[in-house]
Amino acid sequence: MKTGQQTNQQSAEDAINSLRLLRAGAAPRRILVTGGAGFLGSHLCEKLLNQGHQVLCADNFTTGRHRNVAHLRGRPHFKVIRHDVTVPLAADVDEIYNLACPASPPHYQADPVQTMKTSVLGALNLLELAKARKAKIFQASTSEIYGDPHVHPQPESYWGNVNPVGPRSCYDEGKRCAETMFFDFHQQFGVEIKVARIFNTYGPNMRPDDGRVVSNFIVQALSGDDITIYGDGSQTRSFCFVDDLIDGFLRLMASPPSFTGPVNLGNPAEFTVRELAEQVISLTGSPSRIVHLPLPIDDPRQRRPDISIAKRELGWLPKIPLSSGLEQTITYFDRLLTSEARKLAETA
Ligand code: NAD
Ligand code: UDP
Repeated sequence: MKTGQQTNQQSAEDAINSLRLLRAGAAPRRILVTGGAGFLGSHLCEKLLNQGHQVLCADNFTTGRHRNVAHLRGRPHFKVIRHDVTVPLAADVDEIYNLACPASPPHYQADPVQTMKTSVLGALNLLELAKARKAKIFQASTSEIYGDPHVHPQPESYWGNVNPVGPRSCYDEGKRCAETMFFDFHQQFGVEIKVARIFNTYGPNMRPDDGRVVSNFIVQALSGDDITIYGDGSQTRSFCFVDDLIDGFLRLMASPPSFTGPVNLGNPAEFTVRELAEQVISLTGSPSRIVHLPLPIDDPRQRRPDISIAKRELGWLPKIPLSSGLEQTITYFDRLLTSEARKLAETA
């Protein structure tokens, strides 16, 4: 809970940040962040507010949480609305970041039709808004565009290997269709687009029940539960810490209009899932043991971004190694689980 004094101080800081922007010759912008109460969206909203912009966060709160943006409420340049992007939205904005879509396999597979609608209708509605307002629009696309890749590491020029009718298709094909729509609106109507292909990202503000591998392993390790490796754990992923990724978003949005992407954003350091489990056990000092569960259908064998384009066009390079990103994420989950346990004990 914020005190009146804290809110006044924050308002003054926001006003100073806006003035700083003006002095630097850049006007504060009105920015819509869809999916702004989710893991990535909440970090982005905070960063944009700290830069002096006005932020409208639109979320249907399916996987997003009020607690992710609770500390931003009360800031005069921040507004949250409950809105589903499958429905058109009228808003006076200069920029749009479209992040709305569940990203974790168990969550996006729970309601595949809604996932597909979110990607496709959401993209269409927000592109129409961008076109009407002459706003610049960012799309949170994904490494899932590459499916189970035959080319390794994956450059943006690779067209991918995606099953159109499997359990991951609602997400993979929905995001592929959204990318197509972004480029068609750009070519046909001149809408300024920025398309980022995001690789596995982790950090604070993930849900304990998110279901993705980093949050699962940390929550299991902190709770002393079995660590669930799907398959033999030899499949690989490349894990990017959230702060690095958000820096990439901002650089992409600030790039010249001629640079549309798609551009890979991710950390090229590649680990097996077993190596990740071992690092989490070692960093938490957990007594948890590793157990093996069946590998989900169509689980990609390997994934690692080729980030040459991001380096060249955006001067972007992730800086935070897995061990220090994991430490920060472990601290976040440790506090979260402790406070949730305390609340449960108080209400029991
Ligand atoms: P998340 O599930 O934490 O956040 C998604 C947010 O979108 C949530 O707040 C959710 O409530 C909201 N949302 C879902 N459907 C909506 C709808 N129809 N209308 C309005 N809001 C809706 O996931 P995240 O990890 O923060 O991912 C954000 C975006 O980045 C997603 O589009 C995801 O596909 C993309 N992405 C993320 C990663 C990653 O590793 N985190 C990787 C690739 C792509
Ligand atoms: N995974 C795992 N145990 C878990 C959750 C996931 O072994 O508890 C594996 C999963 O099968 C996949 C990898 O970790 O091979 C990454 O899974 P995640 O759901 O985080 O992301 P995605 O598969 O979409 O890259």
